[in-house]
Amino acid sequence: EFMFRNGFLSEVNNEKPLGAPGVDQIITRFPPEPNGFLHLGHSKAIAINFGFAKHHGGICYLRYDDTNPAKEEEKYFTAISDIIQWLGFTPVKVTYSSDYFNRLYKLAEDLIRRDGAYLVNLFSPSESEIALQRGGGKGATPRFACSHRNRPIEESLAEFRAMQDGKYGPQEALLRMKQDLESENPQMWDLTAYRVIQPKRGDTSKEETPDSKAGIHYRTGDKWRIYPTYDFTHCLVDSLEGITHSLCTTEFEQSRTSYNWLCDKLEVYRPMQREYGRLNLSGTVLSKRKIMNLIENGHVRDWDDPRLYTLIALRRRGIPPGALLSFVGGLGVSKATTTIGIKRFEQSIRQHLELTVPRLMVVLDPIPVIIDGLPNDYLEMVEIPFSKDPKFGSRHVPFTGTVYIDRADFRETASEDFFRLTPGTSVGLLKVPFPITATSFEKDSDSGLVTLIHAKYDKPEEGTNYIHWISDCPSFNSPIKASVRIHNPLFTCDNPDTHPSGFLSVVNPRSEEVFPGAMVEIGLHEVRRTAPWPKSEGEKESEDSQKSPDCVRFQGMRVAYFCLDRDSSAGSIVLNRIVSLKEDSKK
Ligand code: ATP
Ligand code: MG
Ligand code: MG
Repeated sequence: EFMFRNGFLSEVNNEKPLGAPGVDQIITRFPPEPNGFLHLGHSKAIAINFGFAKHHGGICYLRYDDTNPAKEEEKYFTAISDIIQWLGFTPVKVTYSSDYFNRLYKLAEDLIRRDGAYLVNLFSPSESEIALQRGGGKGATPRFACSHRNRPIEESLAEFRAMQDGKYGPQEALLRMKQDLESENPQMWDLTAYRVIQPKRGDTSKEETPDSKAGIHYRTGDKWRIYPTYDFTHCLVDSLEGITHSLCTTEFEQSRTSYNWLCDKLEVYRPMQREYGRLNLSGTVLSKRKIMNLIENGHVRDWDDPRLYTLIALRRRGIPPGALLSFVGGLGVSKATTTIGIKRFEQSIRQHLELTVPRLMVVLDPIPVIIDGLPNDYLEMVEIPFSKDPKFGSRHVPFTGTVYIDRADFRETASEDFFRLTPGTSVGLLKVPFPITATSFEKDSDSGLVTLIHAKYDKPEEGTNYIHWISDCPSFNSPIKASVRIHNPLFTCDNPDTHPSGFLSVVNPRSEEVFPGAMVEIGLHEVRRTAPWPKSEGEKESEDSQKSPDCVRFQGMRVAYFCLDRDSSAGSIVLNRIVSLKEDSKK
C-alpha cells in the first residue's frame, strides 16, 4: 500500500476514471506473455497492478497475453501463476488474450470497414519496404504511404479473410492500421494489426519442418493461421475486460496514442493507459536469451538456479516473498526507471531476515574437538534461544565430550588479531557454561590440514569470545550432515549486460562454493516442522507434507542465512546460502 502514497499516478486520483458500462470499481490486470519465467523486474509490475487495485478497493486479473504461439509454452503458464501465488496475490480472474480471438477478428473486420485498416500483400512491398515507408528507422527519411493504403475496403476485407484461410504464408501478408503518417509519433505510422504465423495452406514443404509447430496454439490449436499483434490486442482486450487502469512501463508511453486511437476508431470503451518506470537490476542479466546461454554453457544449472534473478531462482534461494515485496515497495512508484545493484537488493533481504528467521548453529567445515577431562558418557542439554526476540522460544541441544567447530575458528598459532581458538587460548562455546582451551592438535601429513583438536574445559575467564559448535552425540543423531551451497555473485563486474567482451567473459568462476561435509544442529528438526517461521507476509499456512523446502529458512549463527534446497531428501540435507550476514567486500 505504502508504495502509492507519494503521488503515484496523481493524475489518476484527480481524473476520476470512468469504468466500462456496468463497471463501478477499479480493475487492473497483470499481463505477462507466457514465453518465459518472470524475473525480479516483473515483481514490480505484479505489486503495482495488484497493489493499486487493492489500494482503491478494486480487483486485479491475471491475463496471459498469449498471442504468439511460436514462443509460448504450457510450462510458463503454470510457472507464472505459481509464482504470483507465492508472492501472495490471488487474481480475481485468470484470462487469456486468446479468449478473445473471435472478437478481435470481428473488431479487425470492423476496423477495415471503418477505413481504419488495410491489407498489405508483401510479395511486392517487402518488409524492408515497410520500414522505408515508416521513415527508414527513427524517421531518418521521409515517410510515404504503402501502395495498398487506399485499396478498396471490400478488397481488404476479402484479402483479410483469405489471410486467415491460408492463402498466404508468414511474411506474405499483413493487416496494417490506417493511422496518421503525418504524426510525429512512430506509434501512429500504420502499425501492424495481424500477421500470418502458420504456413500457407498446402505448403507441405513447411508442414514437415519443426517450424510448423509455430502455428499451433496451446489453447486454440490450429484454428488460427493469423494472430493479432500486441498493439492491436492489448488495448482491445483491456477494453473488452472493462479494465479501468492499464498500467504499463514507460517504454509504452508513445503507445498510449495508438492505444487511444484504436479504441476511439472502433468506438469501444477506452481504459486509461498510464505508465511507471521499470525496475532494472545491475550486476546480473535478466534477458531470456542470455540466461539460456548461461544454462547451455553450464555456468548455472537451470532457470531456478539460486544465482539467477528469475523469481523461481529467488524463491529457491530462500528469499521470503514478504522480503521481496518490501524491497519493491521501498522503491516507490514513479515514471523514473530504477536501477538497483544486487548488493542493495541483498541488503534489503538481510534486514528482513534478521528480524524474521530463527537461528541455528551450522558448521561449514568441521574439525572435531575432544574435550579431555569430561567423562566419556558426559551429556548436558543446553538451552539456546532461537532468536534475540523471546517470542521465538528456544530449543535444547546436547553438549558432550566431543564437539565440532568451524575450521575458520581455529588457528595453529595465536596472534593479536585472532580472538577464537588457538593452542593455549580459550574460547566460549555458545551457551555452554565454561569455555574451552586448546591444549594440542593433530594434522594430516599429506594435506597439512588440522584433523583433531584437544581441549580442556575451564572456569570462565574475562572477555570470552563465543563460537558456534555442534556436539557429536549419536544418541540424538547429532550432528545432522549437510551439503551447503554458498552462492557468490555470478558476474565479476557490475555491468555484465553491457560489458565490451560480452557477459560470458565476466562470469565469476567461484560463483558457487560447496561445503559437502557441513553439519547442522538438531534444532533444524523443529525449524523444519514449524516453517515458515514466523509466518511472513504472503505465506499461507502449509501442510507439512507439501511444505516447500525454500520456506525452511534460518540464520546459521556467525555464518550466513540459509534455506533448505529442493535437492534435499529424507537422508540428505542440501542448504543454500540466501545472503551473507554482512555485506561482503570480496566477490
Ligand atoms: P522481458 O522482456 O524482460 O521478459 P517483457 O516485457 O517481455 O519482459 P511481459 O511478459 O510482457 O515481459 O511483462 C508483463 C508485464 O511486466 C508488462 O506489463 C511489463 O511492462 C512488466 N515488466 C516487464 N519487465 C519489467 C521490469 N523490469 N520492471 C517493471 N515491470 C516490468
Ligand atoms: Mg516476458
Ligand atoms: Mg513484453
